[in-house]
Formats: sequence, C-alpha cells, structure tokens
Amino acid sequence: MSTAIVVGSGPNGLAAAVSLAREGVEVTVLEAADTIGGGTRSSELTPGLLHDHCSATHPMAVGSPFLRTLDLDRYGLRWCLPEIDCVHPLDSGDAGVLHRSVRDTARGLGGLDGRLWQWMFGTLADGYDRLAEDVMGPLLHVPKHPLGFGRFGLQALLPVGAVAGLWRSARARALFAGVAAHAFRPFHRPATAGVGLLIVAAGHRYGWPVAAGGSRAITDALAALLADLGGRTETGVLVRSMAQLPSADAVLFDLAPRAVADIVGDRLPGRVARAYRRFRHGPGAFKVDFAVEGGVPWSNEAARRAGTVHLGGTYAEIARTERMIHVGRMPERPFVLVGQQYLADPQRSNGNIHPVWTYAHVPHGYDGDATEAIIRQIERFAPGFRERVHGMAVRSTAAFEAYNANYVGGDIVTGANTVAQLVMRPRLALDPYSTGVPGMFICSAASPPGAGAHGMCGANAAASALRYLGRGHGKSGRTAGPRSAQS
Ligand SMILES: Cc1cc2nc3c(=O)[nH]c(=O)nc-3n(C[C@H](O)[C@H](O)[C@H](O)COP(=O)(O)OP(=O)(O)OC[C@H]3O[C@@H](n4cnc5c(N)ncnc54)[C@H](O)[C@@H]3O)c2cc1C
Repeated sequence: MSTAIVVGSGPNGLAAAVSLAREGVEVTVLEAADTIGGGTRSSELTPGLLHDHCSATHPMAVGSPFLRTLDLDRYGLRWCLPEIDCVHPLDSGDAGVLHRSVRDTARGLGGLDGRLWQWMFGTLADGYDRLAEDVMGPLLHVPKHPLGFGRFGLQALLPVGAVAGLWRSARARALFAGVAAHAFRPFHRPATAGVGLLIVAAGHRYGWPVAAGGSRAITDALAALLADLGGRTETGVLVRSMAQLPSADAVLFDLAPRAVADIVGDRLPGRVARAYRRFRHGPGAFKVDFAVEGGVPWSNEAARRAGTVHLGGTYAEIARTERMIHVGRMPERPFVLVGQQYLADPQRSNGNIHPVWTYAHVPHGYDGDATEAIIRQIERFAPGFRERVHGMAVRSTAAFEAYNANYVGGDIVTGANTVAQLVMRPRLALDPYSTGVPGMFICSAASPPGAGAHGMCGANAAASALRYLGRGHGKSGRTAGPRSAQS
C-alpha cells in the first residue's frame, strides 16, 4: 500500500488527505496546532458564544466541484442560508443588497443598473458549475468549456474600476466593490475584477451559506470521512524539517511556499526554491469578534437580515483605502467585513447575546490596533453599536501568523492575488502542485485556485500525487521508486 504524509490540516490539507485515502493510500495528517482545521475552526472566543476563527461564508465551498462529490452531509455538514446574502450600506441610508436570486438583486438595484446586473450575472450564475470546472484549478490549461471560460476571462482581466464603472448608482458600484475587495487588490490594477465576479456568480448559484455549528463543521466532516477511509490525524506536530517526517511515498504540504522551502531545504531545485522564496504575500487582516446584545442596530433595515455586511462607504472610498493598505498606510476608515452567521444558524448565540464576526483590511504586518477603527466603522452605519458590546476577542496580523504560519504578515489569503500569482501560483510550471522534488507537492491556498474553504487546491494536488503514485487517472508521473519522497 502507498503511504502519504500531509503537513497541515486546513481544508486543503484535509481535502488532499481524503482524495488520497479514497484511492487506497494510507494517509497521516500532521498539524502544528492543538486542533485541526486551519482556516475552518470555530470555538467559544467569547463566553457562551460560538465564533468562526477564520472562514465564515461559503459560496465557493458549497459549490466546490470536489466537496460536492463527498456527501459530507452524511458527516453532519449542513449549510444554512441567511435571508439576505450581503448588504453594503451607504451614508445616505441607501444600500446595495445582494440576494441569492439574480432577479431580486437586479430588481433592488432598479432601472438600467438592475438590467446590467441581470445581464452580467444571469449567464455567469447559470453557467457557474461549468465555469468552476475551468477556474477552480490552474488557469493555464486547455479549457473544458472554452466559450464560457473565454467570456469570463475577458471580464476577469478588467480592473475592478472598469467593471464597477458600468453601473450608475452609488449602491450598485459599492455592492460590486465590496465583493471585489475580497481579493485584497487595488481596484485600478488589471485582472482584479475576476475574484469579485466569481464570488458574485457563485453566490447567485448557491447563496452565501454558513455551516451549521460553525465552520469547524467543514473540518469535522472532512476529518470524519478521512477516519472512515482509514486516514489518521496528529495534532501538536510543528514540522520544521524533512528529518521529522516518517517515511512515506508522497508528502503534501498545506503550507505557504516559503515554509515549504525551509522544510525541504537543499533538496528543492534552485529555481523552485527561488520562486517559493520570492512568492509575495498581500495585505493583512485585523479581526475582532464581538458579543453583541440584541445584534447590531443597523440603520439600514436589510442589513439586519443579512449574513454579511460590507462597510467602507462608496466605491471611491473603498478604492482609496484599498490602495492605501497596499502602500503600507493604515486608513482611518478601513474596509470592514461583518459576519452575522447567527442569523442563519441561531445555535451560535446565547439568548439575546449574539456573536458578530468582523475584520478590517490593514497593511501587511500592520502592528497597530485596529479595534477602534472597526468599532467606528460599524457605528457609522449602526449608531448605538458600542453600547451593545458585551465582550470581544481581538486578533492582530501578528496574532494571525502565530495562530497559523500560513498567514504571513496577516495575509489571510496566503499569497497576493497579483496577475502573475493568479496565473502562476505558486510558480510557473505545467504542474504547479509539484515542488520539483519527486513525490513532494504543495497543496495550500498558495496553489491554484487560491484562497477559500473549497478544498480545491488540496484535491488538485492530490490528483498530481496520485498520478505520481501511479494510482490516479492519467499517466503516472512517477519518476523514482517507493519512499522517494523521504530519502
Ligand atoms: C479571518 C479569515 C476570514 C476568512 N473568510 C473566509 C470565508 O468567509 N470564506 C472562505 O471560503 N474562506 C475564508 N477565508 C480563507 C480560508 O479560511 C482559507 O483560504 C483556507 O483556510 C485555506 O486553507 P488551507 O488548507 O490552504 O490552509 P489553512 O487553512 O491556512 O491551514 C493550514 C494548516 O497548516 C498548519 N501548519 C502551518 N504550518 C505548519 C507546520 N510547519 N507544521 C504543521 N502544520 C502547520 C496550520 O496550523 C493550519 O492548520 C478566511 C480566512 C481568514 C483567516
């Protein structure tokens, strides 16, 4: 029987482990932290309330071509949809409102803007499953659906500004800008629209669900399936060098590229080591989880029913603050994301005290305290919020990196979404999951298709590993004998 070690138990590490175990490989997952799950962990960060440590909303996970094959509902994974997916309030009291239905969203935007939203996202959402087959992996490939992929590609190559500029109303522009900001890129740069377009399309296809019982339910379901398939997980194992690893036919790293370079050391071909060490990380996140009595008193009524609320004002304001964090300057009013997962999953609350998940976009490695900036940004659209706060848990950029070494400088998407890194992630190679050392692969969000709790990086890397082991479909990539990953 072939054996494999997976280092890191984020959703990609677990997805890789499950993919390998399904094909009869004996898998062991090694995790540095005391609990598995990486970016999909949840716990009582404030007394009696269940908070998501990282990922909260899952349009890409529920639509993941890999996770959908696993029947994770058998292992307790249940998706819950909020009444409204996302709201972007403005100072005027108006708001952009993103519903699961393209038509309802278009109707809310009204007039020409509504028709444009329908035109842009109707076809994209209808064709999302086919599109996902082309974009949830390396972008340099022979497309399965060239027409849809080509049409999406032309739009995705545009800067956010060019797409947002198509709408006339402040609410429509801001609505798209808020979603596009998830890419952590300045809006004037080319190829920054793609991430926003994809998230909106996935949302119109599947909604923006949360996992019942917290995002850790994704971890628990994957881990339970892995155990059923005979896989093992060990926690509290911080891997620093290859010498620590037991002998195995394949090793997959759910880690940032620089960490892979450090661990593999001299065995990594020089060009790969250079690419991994040059891999760029983006701006950081500063997170505050609040315990809020009675929930957030949003002025905008729709925001009270939304799973996610984007705060940052108009398109122009967010464009400016996103540009600032890229040049290392902390804005007074940063872009802030607010998650109200308890609306769809009420078991997370304790009576009338509710967990509210927030984070601000801040410069890479920002060493200040953004708590007050986040509170002020919420107060701006929900006067009286401050008085309702019963408790909070704060995670700075440094605390993020200490919590999970993949979040270098607080970069929660494990790698800047520059054009180069969108196309060649983590390096230019026919098989971007290969480290260049036979039997060793990178499977984290630093590999294609990038961040999100969708597990696709892990599943794709496992497919490469299976080819190497001579087990997957396609030709075997095996270039050395058994145990070669270890020698
Ligand atoms: C605040 C925040 C909000 C987010 N919101 C969303 C969201 O709403 N929706 C969404 O889809 N995604 C979201 N994400 C992104 C998502 O969580 C990540 O993209 C995803 O978790 C990446 O998975 P991964 O398996 O590549 O790595 P990770 O989840 O980062 O897991 C890597 C694992 O490896 C372990 N590790 C690191 N170094 C070592 C070592 N040397 N030895 C052993 N183990 C090691 C870490 O402890 C960690 O458990 C968010 C992330 C954060 C932080």
